[in-house]
Amino acid sequence: MKSENVQPEDLKWRCDRCQCDLVVGPVTVEYMTNHFTTDLPYCPRCKTVLISEVVATGKMAEVEQILEDK
Ligand SMILES: [Zn+2]
Repeated sequence: MKSENVQPEDLKWRCDRCQCDLVVGPVTVEYMTNHFTTDLPYCPRCKTVLISEVVATGKMAEVEQILEDK
């Protein structure tokens, strides 16, 4: 299984609501009762965070690693 950061192809995504190009930046998400900040693609206009299955899988693996290290 791959556990990589956001890839260039992720940036091709557009917001469904306002057709903005997504930007990648720090976004606070919640996972297993923990809040953490990570870089994810989001819409700069309506703040919708796009988490694809691939990105989510990679990010969740990263987060689990972070949590295990605590
Ligand atoms: Zn939008």
